Amino acid sequence: MIELSGISKTFGQTTVLDDINLKVKAGSRTAIVGPSGSGKTTLLRILAGFEIPDGGHITLGDKVLFDQNTFIPAHERGIGFVPQEGALFPHMKVGDNIAYGLKGSKEENHLRVAELMELVSLDTRLASHWPHEISGGQQQRVALARALAQKPALMLLDEPFSALDTGLRAATRKATADLLEQAGVASILVTHDQQEALSFASQIAVIRHGRFTQVGSPVDVYSQPVDEETALFLGDALIFPAQVNGGVARCCLGDISVNNPQHTGERRIMLRPEQLMITAAHQQPTAIISEVDFTGHLSTLTLTAPGWPMALQVKTLSQQHWQKGAPVNVAVNGHACVLAA
Ligand code: ADP
Ligand code: MG
Repeated sequence: MIELSGISKTFGQTTVLDDINLKVKAGSRTAIVGPSGSGKTTLLRILAGFEIPDGGHITLGDKVLFDQNTFIPAHERGIGFVPQEGALFPHMKVGDNIAYGLKGSKEENHLRVAELMELVSLDTRLASHWPHEISGGQQQRVALARALAQKPALMLLDEPFSALDTGLRAATRKATADLLEQAGVASILVTHDQQEALSFASQIAVIRHGRFTQVGSPVDVYSQPVDEETALFLGDALIFPAQVNGGVARCCLGDISVNNPQHTGERRIMLRPEQLMITAAHQQPTAIISEVDFTGHLSTLTLTAPGWPMALQVKTLSQQHWQKGAPVNVAVNGHACVLAA
C-alpha cells in the first residue's frame, strides 16, 4: 500500500537516511527499530510530509506523495501522525484536542469526539479535562484519537509508549495494535525498544546509521539476524566460533545444524539463550556453573568447560539447584544462525 524507494536525507554534512526502501501492506503493522539517533523520527517526518527527502519516491496506493516532481503536503496525505512527545495542545481541553481538524458542526463534532474516545477506551468525561490533568497513558490515547479523527489510511507512531511504565506500556501497545487492526488502518511504529517492535508488528525493519540492515518477520529477524550487531540489538545472544560445513556447525557445544548453510568455513554462529537446555548432570557433565547471577524469575549462569574457548553466559529460568560449582549438561534446541563475516 505504501511504498518508499531510495529515500535519502542529509542535514548539512550528515547523511541521516541512506537509500531506504520499504513496503507496507494495507491494514498491516510494521515496526522500525533502531538505536537513538539512527534516523527513525526523520523517516516518519518524511512520510508524514513534514520533511522533504533529498531523493527517492513515496507512493500511497496509486497516489504519488513524493518524487522528483511531486510533493503532496502533510494535510493532503491521509496519514495520521502521533509524535514522540508534546503531542497535545496544552491550552486546549482533551475534547478540543481530539476535535482539532474536524470539519463538522459543533454537535456533529461533539458526537464524533465521544465516538473516538470510546474507540480508544477513554472515559468521555475526560473530554472537559486539561491535558496535564490526565495520565501519560491517557494523553497518548488522546493523541491517537486525534490522529484517528482524520480517518487516515496509514498511522505513524513515534515511540508512542516510551513515557509509560512497563506494565501500562505493554497493555497500551496491545490495545493500540488491536484498535488499529479493527479500524483497518495500516501502521508504522518506530521505537528503540526491541521487545516492543517484535511484539507489535508483523514486519520489522532494523535501522542503523540511517540504513535498514534487515527487514522481515519478527521471528525471522530475531532468529536469523544478518550480523552480530543486529543479533545483539534484538536480544540476548550467544555468539561463538564454529567450523561450518554441509549445514552443520562444529563448535564447543557439539554439532549443531544451521539455518543458513550457504555460509561455510571458520565462522561465528549465534544461538538465542532460550535454545539452550541446561540440566543437572550426574555423570560426564558438559560444563560447570562457575557463576550465578540471580535476578528472581531469571538467572544468568556463567558456564565453563575445559575444551571451550570461552565461558558462556546464559540467561535462563531460575532453579534452586543452579549453584556455583554445579555440573550441568547443555543441549541445543533448533538451528544455529551463521553470522555474516
Ligand atoms: P531517532 O529518531 O532515530 O533518534 P532522528 O531522526 O531524530 O533519530 O535523528 C537522526 C539524526 O539526524 C541525528 O543525528 C539528529 O541529530 C539529526 N537531525 C535530525 N533532525 C535534524 C535537523 N532538523 N537538522 C539537523 N540534524 C537533524
Ligand atoms: Mg526519534
